[in-house]
Amino acid sequence: MMDAARIAGILTDRYGLPVRGESRRAEEGPRMRIWPVHVAKTQGFAIDVLVGWRSVEAEFLPDNFASALVAEMERASAQQRSVFAAFSAACTRDGAAVTFAVNGMPVDPAIGSSWPSGWRTVSIRVVRSPVAVDQSAVEAVEDLAITWGGRALGLSLSLLPLEHDIAGEEEGGIVRIEVNRYERSTINRAACIEIHGAICKACGFDFGAVYGGIGSGFIEVHHVEPVSGIAPDTVVDPALDLMPLCSNCHSMIHRRKPPFSMEELRAMLAAAGEAHPVT
Ligand SMILES: [Zn+2]
Ligand SMILES: [Zn+2]
Repeated sequence: MMDAARIAGILTDRYGLPVRGESRRAEEGPRMRIWPVHVAKTQGFAIDVLVGWRSVEAEFLPDNFASALVAEMERASAQQRSVFAAFSAACTRDGAAVTFAVNGMPVDPAIGSSWPSGWRTVSIRVVRSPVAVDQSAVEAVEDLAITWGGRALGLSLSLLPLEHDIAGEEEGGIVRIEVNRYERSTINRAACIEIHGAICKACGFDFGAVYGGIGSGFIEVHHVEPVSGIAPDTVVDPALDLMPLCSNCHSMIHRRKPPFSMEELRAMLAAAGEAHPVT
């Protein structure tokens, strides 16, 4: 069985949203379910993860009375849709299929402007197959659950309202769903790391490789500012506008205001004779 509490702790750190987890051993293999702590149990959602013999599946499961939640997901801004697209791109790049459907009809996760209106049902499903899984290797199974369950969670959270509560009507009464307990920037940051990896994009530094477990997954995230500055309604693309940098490179890129560009930083490293294996 997977250690669902440990995995929930890792995902809570990664997304800044407290989640809880439960695991069980199903016939097909180890299963895990995670769900946000502060969302009413019948009106929120869960992420279900199955690590099978030949595939890993992670799915967004709305609760029975999640219509208010689904309605809010439809209202996701261009910024939120861009983060959703980034998570989806990270999944596809690593060989998974992302199935995203609204009212039973497939929708392109990458083109937020093409999504329909009038959402009644949403399904989000990530399947990585084939993958050779040794179900007796607990650590490997848990790593798969963290990667793919985490991405399904990232996809789902990217569409949820975070700065305000959801108020909807259900069976005559008002329901309130609080999904406002973390900063928007946390999920943008998580999407950037899924896309680029937790490795410095200027010098290739990997905290996990140098410091071991304590450094594993650690990286700073730099906002690449356009020369003209950032307009208030600019959509941040986690793939292009956010870059993972080690603490040294991040300090150096900010030695000037406005900050140096990534190219300038890499040129500095090259001129000083530092290795820069990452492009
Ligand atoms: Zn660096
Ligand atoms: Zn920065």
